Amino acid sequence: MTQPVFHDLISDSQLRKAIDVLGYEQPTPVQLKAIPAAVAGENLIVSSKTGSGKTAAFLLPAIQAILARPPVNPSSTRILILTPTRELARQIVKNAEQLLKFTSLKVGMVCGGEELKYQKAMLRKNPEIVVGTPGRLGEHISHKSTDFSGLEFLVLDEADRMLDMGLSDDVLKITNTCRPERQTFLFSATMEQKGLRHLIKQVILGAAEEIYIDEKPNAITQQMLLADDYKHKEKLLVALLQKSTFEKVIIFTNTKLKASQLDNLLRYNKFRVGTLHGDITQDQRKITLDHFRQGRTTVLVATDVAARGLDIPGVELVVNMDMAYSGDEYLHRIGRTGRADNEGRAVSLVDAKEWNLTKGIERYLGATFELITMPGLKGKYQGPDKTKSSGKSVGTKKKTTAKDKKDDTKAPKVKVRERDKKNIGNRRVPTALKVVAAVDGFAPPKKKITKQIDDNDE
Ligand code: ADP
Ligand code: MG
Repeated sequence: MTQPVFHDLISDSQLRKAIDVLGYEQPTPVQLKAIPAAVAGENLIVSSKTGSGKTAAFLLPAIQAILARPPVNPSSTRILILTPTRELARQIVKNAEQLLKFTSLKVGMVCGGEELKYQKAMLRKNPEIVVGTPGRLGEHISHKSTDFSGLEFLVLDEADRMLDMGLSDDVLKITNTCRPERQTFLFSATMEQKGLRHLIKQVILGAAEEIYIDEKPNAITQQMLLADDYKHKEKLLVALLQKSTFEKVIIFTNTKLKASQLDNLLRYNKFRVGTLHGDITQDQRKITLDHFRQGRTTVLVATDVAARGLDIPGVELVVNMDMAYSGDEYLHRIGRTGRADNEGRAVSLVDAKEWNLTKGIERYLGATFELITMPGLKGKYQGPDKTKSSGKSVGTKKKTTAKDKKDDTKAPKVKVRERDKKNIGNRRVPTALKVVAAVDGFAPPKKKITKQIDDNDE
């Protein structure tokens, strides 16, 4: 069988040219499944692993559709894309601009940290596509500077996060102003949380096609280092960075304060470092990320504002200075490495307080993190007594991926869920749910491990 090529999925010649310039030859599995369903007019709930090309999977069919038909309402936005962070919004704007290169369509960004006045002026020019974070978009709705009455596509990227605590109120305020007959797309690497269902029903009006991609997990070596306390973690981190080879590394902390403190520590140890969290000015956030992308800095310290969606080539190592608060957030954090079929490495620093959380995440992922040690820095804490084990030293090559354990569970491949078949306030005729591909890499948690996220964007 011949391999599918992009031109089989996208017929618009201006878009085909842009795809050629980007060098995309074959669609990724998620693009192959999601684009035809979107072109057929379906609402979509899509889950596929980090770095698998979800952005183009929602941008291409939406852009192609609006190129092919007149607007419903010439003064309205036609495609609205919501993201949890400003950095992700900017990245999607850049992706969209690359795809729009041979068209006359315009894209605008609406995020916090920039002047409202300037954004209002930009919105008055009616860009067909708007990308933004929910807090600021909500403000524009209050000021009546947006018009989504003729919206044709609503996209929630990182949809589970968008419907999470803290963001869902703003998201619903926005989506309630959007044209009910729109198509709605929800995309994430993690869409399995049970609690999401009632919110999804409020965002997706009518039936939706659910696409879960069954694919080889990313080749990310997952390791952990045991630590006695935070001071010990700091020593382990510096030694780890000094001994590892990497082009770029992202270090996650759970609080803004710890991120700033680590910035100082790493600067003192002569690393070229930048820090990203919600209390830093927008100008500085932009500069920090630009410098990291360009390789002017090689270490990025960040809270979970950098956990989702960022596509930065050359990130070879992700370090969890604090363990992620849930299995899903862990997956997103480590997903900053090993993107688009590259290899990656993730090291989590775990102290006694985080042992149970870490074991919970391992069980959730069906993976066992490889225990490593830093020569000369082995601490007293070696896990609960019964699980004491002798750690391998740094540099061992064994790979542990989320797939390892799942491979020997022969669960049925196709899950059919009864999605909401009621038609809530729109004219689309609900169709029966079709399952295009079943999930393999994302087992639902037995019990969700939660902790309030420290750093919300707006
Ligand atoms: P996700 O949203 O699934 O995490 P992205 O949309 O950020 O992934 O894409 C990850 C990377 O893969 C990006 O650098 C993107 O340009 C690239 N990419 C996307 N689709 C293709 C394709 N069909 N062929 C080659 N590279 C692609
Ligand atoms: Mg993405």
